[in-house]
Amino acid sequence: MMQTRILRAEGEALHLAKEYLERGEVVAFHTETVYGLGADARSDDAVRRVFALKGRPSDNPLIVHVHAEYDISPLIDGEPPYAAALRRAFLPGPLTMVYPSKGKVSKYVSCGLETLAIRVPSSPTAQAFLRAVDLPVAAPSANLSKHVSPVTAGHVYDDFAGEIPLILDGGACTGGIESTVLDCTGDVPRILRQGLVTREMIADVAGDCGVYRPQRGERPKSPGMAYRHYSPSCRTAYCRTAEEAETLCREEEGRGGTPYILCASADLPAFSGRNVLDLGGTGEEMAKNLYAHLRTAEREATLLVGLEPRERGGVMAGVLNRMRRAFGVEDET
Ligand code: AMP
Ligand code: MG
Repeated sequence: MMQTRILRAEGEALHLAKEYLERGEVVAFHTETVYGLGADARSDDAVRRVFALKGRPSDNPLIVHVHAEYDISPLIDGEPPYAAALRRAFLPGPLTMVYPSKGKVSKYVSCGLETLAIRVPSSPTAQAFLRAVDLPVAAPSANLSKHVSPVTAGHVYDDFAGEIPLILDGGACTGGIESTVLDCTGDVPRILRQGLVTREMIADVAGDCGVYRPQRGERPKSPGMAYRHYSPSCRTAYCRTAEEAETLCREEEGRGGTPYILCASADLPAFSGRNVLDLGGTGEEMAKNLYAHLRTAEREATLLVGLEPRERGGVMAGVLNRMRRAFGVEDET
């Protein structure tokens, strides 16, 4: 088994990261959304290793991470005018843009699609890493497939200790949920996965913004949007009222279990004396706290009861999408 080192993204660690990637190995790194598991996007073997490490289905494509906006155009086959405006407005940042691909990276990155998803992360760690390695980095979230996405270096270590040589530690992720994925191949931009850059923010710049909803039986445009995902390993239940949540907790206690509640700050008063994981008050706070709380629950709870927050608008679309899917509930947003 190899030793997995956790290092800040500076000096020797950046040299090591470059060496590892050039050798076809995989390195985890901090971004402002969640930690990524990165490989040289041009190498078939390195990209396939990412799928193997995660146990990721071979039809779930990866996002290519580059250091700066000017690294995008060599990889894509043209872009509509609104996409240039969106790049200027939101990059670097938590927005992934899907373009027609020029086929310059391994075919395994896009899993047979003719498009390529690209992002320029803003975290200083990701920026230092991408500048140092100086190649396009294919990177999904650094968790085992279907498990909760990692928002600390420790979370990555828990899933991949002994399997990867290096984790570039940038502390806790400030964003907390995965990037917004935006289809930029049509006349109007269309959200494939909700995230921190919201539909409202995109429509402000592009004039309009659609949201893709897969039709039954259709192959989804964003294959990662499978049903159950981001799930903690403990038992879970999802409620829309505090009464329902309280009843489930009492039943679990009656069985000798340890129930935990996951809810917004506004709902805390309903659960005094209970083990509560407080999501916070705003959409941004809930995005930042969600995955860390799911990881805590799987260590400490026998049953995690999620109470759906009542907040709506902005980042809540992304938060509710991830929360519902972690609990195996159909997303209606
Ligand atoms: P992850 O980084 O684990 O959140 O996975 C990246 C996600 O980006 C995938 O699950 C897809 O939903 C999305 N994605 C990546 N490439 C494409 C693409 N070419 N077209 C549409 N969606 C994509
Ligand atoms: Mg993922």
